Amino acid sequence: MDVSHLLEELNEAQREAVTVDQGHVLVLAGAGSGKTRVLVHRLAWLIQVKHLSPLSVLAVTFTNKAAGEMRERTQALLRVSTRPLWIGTFHSIAHRLLRIHWREAGLQEHFQIIDSDDQLRLVRRIIREEGLDENQFPPSQIQWYINARKDEGQRPSSIEHMDHPLTATWVHVYGRYHAYCERAGLVDFAELLIRAHELWLNEPAVLAHYRKRLTHLLVDEFQDTNTIQYAMIRLLAGDSGEVFVVGDDDQSIYGWRGARVENVQFFVRDFPQVRTVRLEQNYRSTGTILSAANALIAHNEGRMGKRLWTAAGEGQPIRVYAAFNEHEEARFVIERIEHWLAEGRRAEEAAIVYRTTAQSRLFEEQLLRASIPYRVYGGLRFFERAEVKDALAYLRLLQNPNDDAAMERVINTPNRAIGQKTVAMLRAQARESGLPLWQAAGESIRQELLPGRARNAVAGFMELILAMRERMGDWTLGNQMQGVIEQSELARHYEKESREKMEARVENLQELVNAAESFILPAEDEEAGLSPLQSFLSHAALEAGETQGADWDDCVQLMTLHSAKGLEFPLVFMAGMEDGLFPHQRSVQESAGRLEEERRLCYVGMTRAMEQLYLSYAEVRRQYGSESYSRPSRFLDEMPTELLQEIRPRMATHRPYPGARPTAADPVDLPFRLGQAVRHRQFGEGMVVNFEGSGEHARVQVNFHQAGSKWLVLAYANLERA
Ligand code: ATP
Ligand code: MG
Repeated sequence: MDVSHLLEELNEAQREAVTVDQGHVLVLAGAGSGKTRVLVHRLAWLIQVKHLSPLSVLAVTFTNKAAGEMRERTQALLRVSTRPLWIGTFHSIAHRLLRIHWREAGLQEHFQIIDSDDQLRLVRRIIREEGLDENQFPPSQIQWYINARKDEGQRPSSIEHMDHPLTATWVHVYGRYHAYCERAGLVDFAELLIRAHELWLNEPAVLAHYRKRLTHLLVDEFQDTNTIQYAMIRLLAGDSGEVFVVGDDDQSIYGWRGARVENVQFFVRDFPQVRTVRLEQNYRSTGTILSAANALIAHNEGRMGKRLWTAAGEGQPIRVYAAFNEHEEARFVIERIEHWLAEGRRAEEAAIVYRTTAQSRLFEEQLLRASIPYRVYGGLRFFERAEVKDALAYLRLLQNPNDDAAMERVINTPNRAIGQKTVAMLRAQARESGLPLWQAAGESIRQELLPGRARNAVAGFMELILAMRERMGDWTLGNQMQGVIEQSELARHYEKESREKMEARVENLQELVNAAESFILPAEDEEAGLSPLQSFLSHAALEAGETQGADWDDCVQLMTLHSAKGLEFPLVFMAGMEDGLFPHQRSVQESAGRLEEERRLCYVGMTRAMEQLYLSYAEVRRQYGSESYSRPSRFLDEMPTELLQEIRPRMATHRPYPGARPTAADPVDLPFRLGQAVRHRQFGEGMVVNFEGSGEHARVQVNFHQAGSKWLVLAYANLERA
């Protein structure tokens, strides 16, 4: 068979990795060097040349989006269906295992996945029930603790150092939370992994089955695996499985969430005779972009060390834009995109990346105004919107009445006069009797534990759910969704909101019905015996946070730096390059290690760019409700200046004094720039908003926070930079 297409467009090192005869392989290489490409070609090679059954290969990557791309690329290479292939994220693969082996895993048949919102709600509820002070034990902190322990594979009983009172309380809450989820049939994201790992650990027959079947494991973005994921790989591989991992220590950006870049070193230590392949040629970016990224990352210590070069030309300089404020920054970016489109390029070739999700809003606003379609990854999450979650919670409750999180969510949405007090009583009853909320509510009614009005209200709610289940049991998924929205009166509930909000919510509910109607039960879920409803709910939970509802064809891509990992775009804007925002304040304060992780994040962001890279910052930014002045990100100082080209704000509204209009070609060294934060002995702090005159007549207009707007003669004002 002619397999030359599998080796075409691969360099020598890449070919070596793809064609390794047997044994474990580590591909350690920098950004854009073709790691993902090598992994996909290896997959195809195993099937086409080594004649492995597609059933015996497991490929793991970081996001559902990446998994989708991997499947497509493999399909293109193999030219046969890739349906039987197991390609997915650790979470989706664990989910699949647990659906098939729920009994052996000790789960309820219809277990429900909960997202971090629901998880937080449950943790808070337990903290309250335990009579703990929420200030001393913030729910989000305990939630973080629980997830971190699970990511390390630890159960409450296996955690030591219980003598510390604080830790002891955390562990106790973890225990209560766990018992709670067990009873209600709820599984959070971290639980998926630890549970799948335990399944293999505790059920030798199941493990043996998968070891025999999945003989070849391939892992992309290996530097970001956490302890439990690494343990899963080791366990599954056993002594005979072959493992092929690709990664880049300089792109490890999930340390804050438990990822351990040391896994790269452990891999070489734990697996026998690992063949390490290094790729050194970057095929993605221009010389300038690559040099700047290399120079930046050189500021980190303890790197594994890699060379990275490109045969591409230098390309254009990296543009650095100092915006007046965040609005102006967004305007600038959108203007550049309009320019790009006017040149006949495509919208989807452009990406705007930022450090925090909240930054997306202004860009969205400007894009909407300019009628440029866009898509947000990891931002406004369709499946996380309140109304969508409400509707899904009704479905969850129909499917599993013991789903406490769902019941809590909808028992009084829309308002049925079931107040906090009543809910608290139901919880207490649930706790005492060790029953799920639903059953406890039933008991409370039977035993007449609730006051008359509350009893009627709760009974009314339960009857509604039972009636829905009765009526809609055999309806199609789309009709079920529509039915739930109508009969629960959710739409009516939202009509009380402001018109705009209401319309958006009703639209989202309609979109949800569309999603349900067009949902096709995936083969693997069918194989695992899932109903369309179960499958749909699981997908909703797993996919939240990755894509927006609609799937447009050609649109500008907006995403956080974290979700940009592994992707590439001809035109990239990195916005908010300000100290405090990026690197993020928390990281700067916490430790040198965290700062290095932020630097790696910056490296990841820059290396997404193929042709053009823009770095922008706002001199004034409104954050957490107040305006603050910021310094340009220290990362900008760490890039060689000769690779950067500074662009000053174009002063359309603020007239600079004649002859001093600063431009990229003619940078004039003014003592102050527009937007500059300054301090005056008498008037205090303010911001420069205008200039006029020149020489000794030069005057500057400053907006002082306290004293208001003033024109000052520069020569006498004694202004200092603030
Ligand atoms: P990252 O570290 O960002 O995940 P990567 O190492 O996985 O990057 P790929 O995404 O696989 O890199 O490849 C980067 C780009 O270079 C892709 O567009 C890919 O198609 C291209 N590429 C990789 N190898 C070659 C090659 N030998 N010839 C031509 N193009 C290549
Ligand atoms: Mg990659």
